[in-house]
Amino acid sequence: MSTRSMSLSPDIYRYLLEHAVREPAVLERLRTITAGMRGAEMQVSPEQGQFMGLLVRLIGARRCIELGTYTGYSSLAMALALPADGRIVTCDVSEEWTAVARQFWREAGVEARVDLRLKPALGTLDELERTDGRGAFDFAFLDADKPNYIAYYEKLLTLVRPGGLIAADNTLFVAGASIVERDSIPARALREFNDHVHHDERVDLAMVPIGEGLTLLRIR
Ligand code: CA
Repeated sequence: MSTRSMSLSPDIYRYLLEHAVREPAVLERLRTITAGMRGAEMQVSPEQGQFMGLLVRLIGARRCIELGTYTGYSSLAMALALPADGRIVTCDVSEEWTAVARQFWREAGVEARVDLRLKPALGTLDELERTDGRGAFDFAFLDADKPNYIAYYEKLLTLVRPGGLIAADNTLFVAGASIVERDSIPARALREFNDHVHHDERVDLAMVPIGEGLTLLRIR
């Protein structure tokens, strides 16, 4: 896993960071703190956070779901892009990591927009279908445990409205990883996920080589 866009030379990547990234100070602080933590490779890169904020604004999203909060960089990037009455439900199972996230949502003044659910995400998605209903969400960021990607995706297809977007993270990990990693459980799961969505007629898709690969799936 990686905290920067793959396949760019260091020079090109530096240019991108210096000339096209607008990272709010609060996100920069969160990124710096997370870089010293266990699991730091799970944090999304600044250009990817900015890209997802742009997507949220592009489709006029008001309601988002995130699977895999970690220390909150991506949820904060999305929350900052939402209107004041927007909402993001974010799912994780780690008290330790999400404590950092909470601190930064508060610091950024967006805690009222963020609804953290600390339990296995499949259960939360079932709850959301009961409480919020089908098609109640505009945008979903799928970045949790890879073996459940297909199960998450199938539930998100009912929760996200037609015209809404599911963004699935790390989908190019399978191709860029070392030979050992290519046979790992996450890599095999991502390969199955990529094959699952490749010709899925329920969505339009594009795999974007940002971060470690971000597959955009627009619900038809
Ligand atoms: Ca990820």
